[in-house]
Amino acid sequence: MNVLVINAGSSSLKFQLLDVDTREVYAKGNCERIGIDGSFVGYESIAVEGKQKIEAPLPTHKDAMQYVIEIINATGKDFIGIGHRVVQGGWYFPESKVVTDETLGWVREVAPLAPLHNYAEADAIQVCRELFPDKGNVVVADTSFHYNIPEKAWRYALPRDVVDKLHIRKYGAHGTSHRYIWRAAKEFLGDDMHKLVSCHLGSGASLSAIQDGKDMDTTMGLTPLDGLIMGTRCGTIDPATVCYLVREGGYTIDEVDTMMNKQSGLLALSGISSDSRDIEDGAAKGDANCQMAFDMFYYRTSQLIMEMAQAMHGFDTMAFSAGIGENSDVMRLGVAKELEWMGVKIDEEANKVRSDEVRCISAPDSKIKVLVVPTNEEYMIALDVAELLG
Ligand code: ADP
Repeated sequence: MNVLVINAGSSSLKFQLLDVDTREVYAKGNCERIGIDGSFVGYESIAVEGKQKIEAPLPTHKDAMQYVIEIINATGKDFIGIGHRVVQGGWYFPESKVVTDETLGWVREVAPLAPLHNYAEADAIQVCRELFPDKGNVVVADTSFHYNIPEKAWRYALPRDVVDKLHIRKYGAHGTSHRYIWRAAKEFLGDDMHKLVSCHLGSGASLSAIQDGKDMDTTMGLTPLDGLIMGTRCGTIDPATVCYLVREGGYTIDEVDTMMNKQSGLLALSGISSDSRDIEDGAAKGDANCQMAFDMFYYRTSQLIMEMAQAMHGFDTMAFSAGIGENSDVMRLGVAKELEWMGVKIDEEANKVRSDEVRCISAPDSKIKVLVVPTNEEYMIALDVAELLG
C-alpha cells in the first residue's frame, strides 16, 4: 500500500512516496526556497539513477507540487492517500484525522501557535485537495502523541481564565518521531522495555517519557522553544528574562522571539555554528566556547532525562535519535557519562559503530539499556494514512 507524505515548511516542501508494507521508498525529495530566488527541487527516485536537481522558479507551494506530481508520476506508482505533517494540532488533533473542510479549518485556527508552519501546511493540504481530487488527505500532527499526557504534566501554573481563553498548555512537538522511536525500540527489545526516555536530538531537540506506549511527559511546551538547548533555540530559561530583555535591553518582543529561536542555543554558546559537527571540530581543537556548548548540552540533556524518568517513576531504556542522536558518538557518550552515577554505562566500542539499524550501545552491566534508533517520521505518517484510508 503506497502513501505520499508531504512535509511543508514556510519555504520548503519535502515529499516521500513509500510502500507501508515493505517500507520501500519510491521517490523522495525537497522543493527548496519556495517564494525566494534560487529555488530548486532536489530528489531521488526509482525512475532515475542518482540524485537529481531541477532548478526552476517556485513562486508558490502549488508550483512546487506540480514538480512533485511529475516526479511521482514518473515512478509509475499509484498511492492510496496523502499524509501531511502538521507541526501544531492544538486541541483538535489528539490523533490523526482525515482532511475535510472542517479539519482543514482547525489547522488554520490553531496556526497562531505555530505561524511559521501551520499556514504553509494548510496551504499545501489545500493544494493537494485541488490537484488530487480523488485522493484522501490525512493530518498527522506533531503534537498529537503528547495531547493526553497527565494534566499535572501539561497544565501551566498561570491564571485559569488566561490559560483557558488562550489555550495555553504544554503541546510538545516531535510526537510522530517519539511515537516511531517507541515502536522501533519495542520491536527491538520486546518485553524487556516498559519505560523509555526517547531522545530526539536534532537541530530541534526534545525528550519524551513513554510508558508502555503511552506518553507521560515531554520537554517542549506551548511551542518548541522549551526544554533542551538546541541548535539555535535557548530551551528553558527563566521566563522573566523576556520581560527583562524588553524593559532593560530595549528589544522589541519580535526581536526577543527571534533571538531566542534563531540566535541562541549551540550557535550562541559556541559562537561559531549551530551544527554540532562544527562545534565538535572546534572543541577538538581546544576552543573553550565549543567545549562549554557541549558541556552544557550534556548537562541539560541529562537533567531533563531525569525529569522524564520522574514522570514514569523510573526508566529501563533510553534511545538516542535524529541528526545528533543517531550520528554523534561524542554527544551520546557525553550525555551518558553525566548519567553514570545512576548506572548508565555505555559500551564505547559499540557506541562508535555507524549503522542505519536500531542498535544497543550500553554495556551488559548497565542498569539502563541505551539504544540508537534511526527515526522515520514519514513511515509513521504513512502508517496513519494506511489505517485511516487503507
Ligand atoms: P532537524 O530535522 O531538526 O533539522 P536533524 O535531525 O537533521 O535536525 O539534525 C541536525 C543536527 O544533526 C545538526 O546539529 C548536525 O550537526 C547533526 N548531525 C548530522 N549528521 C551528523 C554527524 N554525522 N555527526 C554529528 N552530528 C551530525
